[in-house]
Amino acid sequence: MQLNPYGEDPVRFVVELTNVPPGSARELEERCVAAGMVIDRPVEPGDLAEVLGFLRRWAKVVDAGTDERRAALLNGLLAEASTPPRLTDHADGGWHIHYREDGIGLGGVLRAVGAVGTALHLTGLGMHRLGRCALAECGNAYADFSRAGRQRYCSHACANRDAVRRHRAKRRAL
Ligand SMILES: [Zn+2]
Ligand SMILES: [Zn+2]
Repeated sequence: MQLNPYGEDPVRFVVELTNVPPGSARELEERCVAAGMVIDRPVEPGDLAEVLGFLRRWAKVVDAGTDERRAALLNGLLAEASTPPRLTDHADGGWHIHYREDGIGLGGVLRAVGAVGTALHLTGLGMHRLGRCALAECGNAYADFSRAGRQRYCSHACANRDAVRRHRAKRRAL
């Protein structure tokens, strides 16, 4: 796993997987490789089930109504998915921190990285920095990495579509 657990990458990847869940173990593996993960062990159907289960619970973290609820749900994921930090230099990537045991499957790796990455994101930038796209027919999850921290849409496309719609509604109202 070469994703920087302190950076945005793991959280962006979990958002992507949540909005478009992988349909097979093979697709999961391909997307992990594309996201920069080093695959230590063959990906198995059990990994897919494990990841899909994690994503369902992670979505509840996004949809939590209060900071306390969000923290409690994420603490549950952290307790199950992560271990105390440890140093490792596998895969010639240089020394870095893992929050997981060595030699576990991809499902376990993704859970650990996703849970820890989300915890670092929320504590670093703010507990409100996860949400659902405000465009009614979209509803995609997003993680807000913006400077201002006031993101409401999953993408520029959704923000633009809603702006056009509001503009038209206003003109009709005149
Ligand atoms: Zn690693
Ligand atoms: Zn959207």
